[in-house]
Amino acid sequence: MAEPFLVDSPDVTYSKDFIEAKYTYSTVHVCKENGVTKVRPCSTRFTFRTGRQVPRLGVMLVGWGGNNGTTVTAAVLANRLGLSWMTKTGRKTANYYGSLLQASTVCLGTGPSGDVYVPFRDLLPMVHPNDIVFDGWDISSLNLAEAMRRAEVLEWPLQEQLWPHMEKMKPRPSIYIPEFIAANQEERADNVLSGPMAQQVEQIRRDIRDFKESSGVDKVIVLWTANTERFCDIVPGLNDTADNLLRAIERGLEVSPSTLFAVASILEGCAYINGSPQNTFVPGAVELAAQRRVFIGGDDFKSGQTKLKSVLVDFLVGAGLKTKSIVSYNHLGNNDGKNLSAPQQFRSKEISKSNVVDDTVQANPVLYGPQDKPDHCVVIKYVPYVGDSKRALDEYTSEIMMGGTNTIVIHNTCEVREVPTASPGCPQGVPGWLLTPGCPQDSLLASPIILDLAILTELCQRISFRTEADPEFQGFHSVLSILAFLCKAPLVPEGSPVVNALFRQRSCIENILRYRGHPVPMGTQCHHPRAQ
Ligand code: NAD
Repeated sequence: MAEPFLVDSPDVTYSKDFIEAKYTYSTVHVCKENGVTKVRPCSTRFTFRTGRQVPRLGVMLVGWGGNNGTTVTAAVLANRLGLSWMTKTGRKTANYYGSLLQASTVCLGTGPSGDVYVPFRDLLPMVHPNDIVFDGWDISSLNLAEAMRRAEVLEWPLQEQLWPHMEKMKPRPSIYIPEFIAANQEERADNVLSGPMAQQVEQIRRDIRDFKESSGVDKVIVLWTANTERFCDIVPGLNDTADNLLRAIERGLEVSPSTLFAVASILEGCAYINGSPQNTFVPGAVELAAQRRVFIGGDDFKSGQTKLKSVLVDFLVGAGLKTKSIVSYNHLGNNDGKNLSAPQQFRSKEISKSNVVDDTVQANPVLYGPQDKPDHCVVIKYVPYVGDSKRALDEYTSEIMMGGTNTIVIHNTCEVREVPTASPGCPQGVPGWLLTPGCPQDSLLASPIILDLAILTELCQRISFRTEADPEFQGFHSVLSILAFLCKAPLVPEGSPVVNALFRQRSCIENILRYRGHPVPMGTQCHHPRAQ
């Protein structure tokens, strides 16, 4: 198999099936002995093995007919077909901007003319997004073409070209338990399973098997991009262990649809990623994933405001300024916003957004005492007119030298609204298309994240490692914390620290991919491989 580059080192070997890399992980242990702080450098010798055969990947989306589901499917089709379309500002062509793996680069080393950069995707053999096959479920029965039109994300001339491809795609009926999402979603719920809870989970398992067989993919990853649910109570005897959770499903007790999908995927051996803020991964689901050695990851795509916050507060506190108040207003008019206008679903989002600066603040005891942290307020309002073009307004106030204050205000919108122009090529029988306002934003940020989540997860399934002390090859921890860069509220193995600061998260992915493929550059090694 052709690699974009070969590493010429005794520590890296290539066979037909594997790349094997030896790597010394160096870290520093700090402890207190007899009142003295001792700093001890230590190192572990790892061998990493990465399978070189890239499988045909199938991704099943829960909420396939939503804004994210339709946009990511459309974007992959448009890239695969090499589509371009006219807008009032000229011709646009399909691309993967916003994808860490496809559209950002890493420095490979230094050559005769300076530093050499390669796309992230070239570090190790990975699935190309153009090759992903999509399927999924939605409580709304609209086919993907009609759902794409309902989403009002993509320009109409592009929708027209995609229409014949997307109208053949129809979401499978889904598990719908009305009390978990806002009551205002009920009107679209015309594609739902019925019967006892355990039978519905069985149907989801059959769907996964059916998709795998009928599409010919080698592997399936399931990803929740359906509406935000309310949080679940963690109840001993109900969802605190894998056995209790499975029993609760048999008895039809309180288990959220997103957790039911997680259980179905894990039982089918498919990795499961949660792109929404709710606590899908109750302790019983985490235990089940560990028992079955299946990857899980989440929570909540980190697409806009939170991404900026995790950079800006890192910068402010890292520069020695004491951020005292962070106030974030959002307004959006898509179906996500409609669902989040209900208090319990908003609460899930508020929790997910609120912890994003904790690690940065805790890392600076010079500025912050043990109980000290910035006031942090998040407001989300539903304003139908702005559609998917979400607006975020943030105010950061920090204490500076000698009693001064500094205030930064940010207004974040991706693209201004365009008035649609009538197109003579409008397909017959598509009523209401003239009303479609083309105002892309939120889902165009989330879609590349969905692709990165699936592709990174698949790659991790092909990586194993061993140490001198433990010579059996083993996989990463079933909770994939490497996905933290892509998630607002990163799920980590119990007891591991949560890292929110964006560039630490990025170097975690970079370092992990580098030392599986070739030696790590000098720099921060923020993540112990075992935590993976
Ligand atoms: P959306 O409302 O357009 O799509 C959600 C879809 O899920 C809808 O089609 C709905 O019918 C479907 N659905 C609801 N319950 C379901 C169930 N039980 N089974 C199957 N389908 C179900 O929302 P969206 O804009 O696509 O966002 C999806 C999720 O991603 C939301 O929870 C949102 O909070 C989260 N999210 C989005 C972004 C972003 O930038 N777009 C960022 C972070 C998180």
